[in-house]
Amino acid sequence: MIRPELPLIDPGFGSSVRDPRPGVAGVKPEDLAAWFEERGEPAYRATQVLDACWRGSARSFEDVRTLPGSLRTALAEAFRWTTIESETFVESDGGLTEKALHALSDGSNVESVLMHFPGGPGRRERWTLCISSQAGCAVGCPFCATGELGFGRDLETAEIVDQVRGAAGRLAGRGGGAHLTNIVFMGMGEPLLNLNRVLEAIAALNAPRRFGLAARAITVSTSGVVPGIRRLTDLGPQFTLAISLHAARDALRDVLVPLNRRWPVAEVVAAARDHARATGRRVSYELTMIGGGNDTDADADALAELLRGDLAHVNLIPMNPVAHTPWRASPALVVERFAARVRRAGIPVTIRHNRGVDVGAACGQLAAEHAGQPLAAVVARRRQRLEEASARALRGDRSDEPVPAGVGE
Ligand code: SF4
Repeated sequence: MIRPELPLIDPGFGSSVRDPRPGVAGVKPEDLAAWFEERGEPAYRATQVLDACWRGSARSFEDVRTLPGSLRTALAEAFRWTTIESETFVESDGGLTEKALHALSDGSNVESVLMHFPGGPGRRERWTLCISSQAGCAVGCPFCATGELGFGRDLETAEIVDQVRGAAGRLAGRGGGAHLTNIVFMGMGEPLLNLNRVLEAIAALNAPRRFGLAARAITVSTSGVVPGIRRLTDLGPQFTLAISLHAARDALRDVLVPLNRRWPVAEVVAAARDHARATGRRVSYELTMIGGGNDTDADADALAELLRGDLAHVNLIPMNPVAHTPWRASPALVVERFAARVRRAGIPVTIRHNRGVDVGAACGQLAAEHAGQPLAAVVARRRQRLEEASARALRGDRSDEPVPAGVGE
């Protein structure tokens, strides 16, 4: 048995004491109403707080002038107005992409990315926010900067939705009616390993009295946590499901998405297929394209076979070139050839472009840079290990490495 790989760098997740007060945006309306009731206050006070929290321009409880001063003080003692202590922003793509690094109360850093897709003939303008659900990630995909950090902790519900409140506020400040049109859970972390809080966050984002975004404008992405997919399916036709597939063959996926050692490709796609049938909604399959890794004709044919006849859509995204791996992005011509082979099976394919490569827009990259650079010797060892693992995978050998710790039963 090979020993599990340690994180490349120590990100210092949770090195400070966490503020025990819950973030107000993560508190359920009924719990907030109960809090007021305990103080002999009418239930409409909860509505006033929620309106100020989700719709107004207030930056603290002190700004909520519809409340008496004593209540503002009591609220600030019981709850945090926002769970984000400070943040830094980096723009790229000529201002179309804005990446945010959010510092949380315990010193953890998580990221969100705001992407602008201008409208055009027959094309609606979109503002999409990609948000994080965990600090770090236990899955450990080797091409992903978050995977390099290891797992820190699950985010609280408020820590998830405060990324959205912040971006919505920044957009409102730009004027001109700019507003968030789509939210994707594709930032740091595996959302289905923090599913209860992700579901609470989605409820807040979807509720008309809170953020009020249509369910179909919310995408939940997973690397393949099968019980979580099945739980989403049981909830009904609500939001869009995306599967981070990256490879259709188990031996290769064992290396690229280590969670595959627990839930292999066939099980993941079977659960996604059931989800598509039950909801009538198309499932997106994402593949990060790695030159000479997962972009061969054999990989394209395996993918076509796997998804033939399914209600599915494939997105191909060139690998971000800066991860500490021996791999590079697939050349454009190779990606086009791969797409053509999959399309021949009747499966729609879109080739996407990486946003913000120049500012480290890959998931987790800013947080990784913030944590410091790994030692050259550690990077060299990791590269060698990955080269050996991918060579074994290309021969068709399944991995004998353990399922990553924290991935669940
Ligand atoms: S790609 Fe997603 S699931 Fe994989 S390590 Fe990164 S954040 Fe986790």
